[in-house]
Amino acid sequence: MSAKSQDEFLAPSHQALAGRFTGLFEATPQLVALFDAADVLRYANPAFRAAFALAPEAQPSWQTMMRDCYLQRRGNVVKTKDFEAWLASATARRGKQAFRSFEADLYDDRWIWMNETVDEQGWMLCVASDITPLKQDGRELRQARDLALRAAQTDSLTGLSNRGHVLGLLDQFLAEYRDGGDALALVVLDLDFFKRINDCQGHAVGDRVIRDFAQLLQSNCRRVDACGRVGGEEFLLLLLGVDELDAAQVVERLLAQVRASRPLIEQPDFAYTASAGMAFWRPGELASELLKRADEALYAAKSAGRDQLVLAAPAD
Ligand code: GH3
Ligand code: MG
Ligand code: MG
Repeated sequence: MSAKSQDEFLAPSHQALAGRFTGLFEATPQLVALFDAADVLRYANPAFRAAFALAPEAQPSWQTMMRDCYLQRRGNVVKTKDFEAWLASATARRGKQAFRSFEADLYDDRWIWMNETVDEQGWMLCVASDITPLKQDGRELRQARDLALRAAQTDSLTGLSNRGHVLGLLDQFLAEYRDGGDALALVVLDLDFFKRINDCQGHAVGDRVIRDFAQLLQSNCRRVDACGRVGGEEFLLLLLGVDELDAAQVVERLLAQVRASRPLIEQPDFAYTASAGMAFWRPGELASELLKRADEALYAAKSAGRDQLVLAAPAD
């Protein structure tokens, strides 16, 4: 072997490596997929496409893929009476950790071990192995544990993260950014005159309005962000790596969507609004102090007439 070809062997170019990866991904029975930060499928190997009933060139969002699979009984077995609530709950937990793994049943009777790795920009690599042949001892126990863990983190009305989970994510973000990394905006949102909606329309209608708001909130929450329901009609949104202008734009857009929403088919004129308070985290600030500043901004938004965003004064 000449010195040159040995060099090439030892240090192949990135392009050659990428080609090698792709060739092996195309051949492996392991399921391999890559989702971008908006959770749109950017690559899936034939094994993944077969399991999730994807056409060769299809690049759906993860939500669309899961919805199609549920209707066709392909991909993951989803046991739920309310698929949209299940989807909201799964989305709330998806990609919030740099790495996680879990087992899942496929409708084709296989049992897979899925590994999800997320980079700082929110791209996610999914690799799953078929573990059907492994001994099934303890499997039901493990699945029960996964279900219990999910229930403990999920708000049952909306499927969003519950108070404990979203505050835990806030602590996690603050610990990661302790040394002054990306900006972090905390937004507290509260529906306006909700008592009136409940009193005039009944609690069940109130619940539907809460679910409508939760859906709009989640649709504005990128993978790197987090959101959850922290009280009756009060929500939190954590926005990462955005400046004041961008963060305000996200919240203003959400408030506009809420204003335009008509969640009650039987009452096409029914509309509602929400108010928001936003505070930017300053390195060294405690989560409780940040929450207090955002709460005060929310209170100011209510006092100023509701249906608006108020930005908190910077921390001292
Ligand atoms: P403001 O604009 O100042 O926020 O007025 P508000 O009426 O929304 O505020 P307030 O906090 O007085 O009322 C919140 C109401 O939300 C009280 C309670 O009846 C209702 N609520 C709390 N949790 C739930 C729930 O899970 N479902 C429904 N339908 N209503 C709830
Ligand atoms: Mg309210
Ligand atoms: Mg309230």
